[in-house]
Amino acid sequence: MTSAVTSLPVEVEKKPFKRTNRPGTKAVDFYKWPEEAFEDMDSTLAVQQYIQQLIRKDPSAIDDILTPPDSQDEGVWKYEHLRQFCMELNAIAVRLQAECNAETCSQMTATEQWIFLCAAHKTPKECPAIDYTRHTLDGAACLLNSYKYFPSRVSIKESSVGKLGSVCRRVYRIFSHAYFHHRSVLMKSSPKPTYASVSPFS
Ligand SMILES: [Zn+2]
Ligand SMILES: [Zn+2]
Repeated sequence: MTSAVTSLPVEVEKKPFKRTNRPGTKAVDFYKWPEEAFEDMDSTLAVQQYIQQLIRKDPSAIDDILTPPDSQDEGVWKYEHLRQFCMELNAIAVRLQAECNAETCSQMTATEQWIFLCAAHKTPKECPAIDYTRHTLDGAACLLNSYKYFPSRVSIKESSVGKLGSVCRRVYRIFSHAYFHHRSVLMKSSPKPTYASVSPFS
């Protein structure tokens, strides 16, 4: 005689999944958690989380990384990309210091055609490339973290969005300088800079 086995529903308490790198996590295990759909991200930092998730998934999938989800506010999307770009550029700037200095690069150039003035001073100045890099990244960080212009990560005034273009233009020159004058430093960066082939504002 066989007895029928019925599977009774078992109530399992679902613990909220924490997407966080706990202290002691090995580098290889960093960010090892399941992807999350953008609609399910309910934090005020959702756009940043989503962009970083896309970058981790495939840093070379530039089109995917730059395509905003449906109904995403475009100003916030640009703002968060510029924040991410500056964060990655800071890591490159640290490596640049090893070979870019006032003797090797006394002016900020990309190709030999233009010399760029540093806008971080009362009167724009011909700072050496590495100083231009530091001053410009500092200025960008100050602006992007300014409560006056960017009090929210969820919505941004149109007048503040208008400020992003000039920041982007200036910080992107740092990237160009690294590409044309210190390519080995740029290519040795690990992980590879996400925005190596495209400007988020192009
Ligand atoms: Zn240089
Ligand atoms: Zn300067």
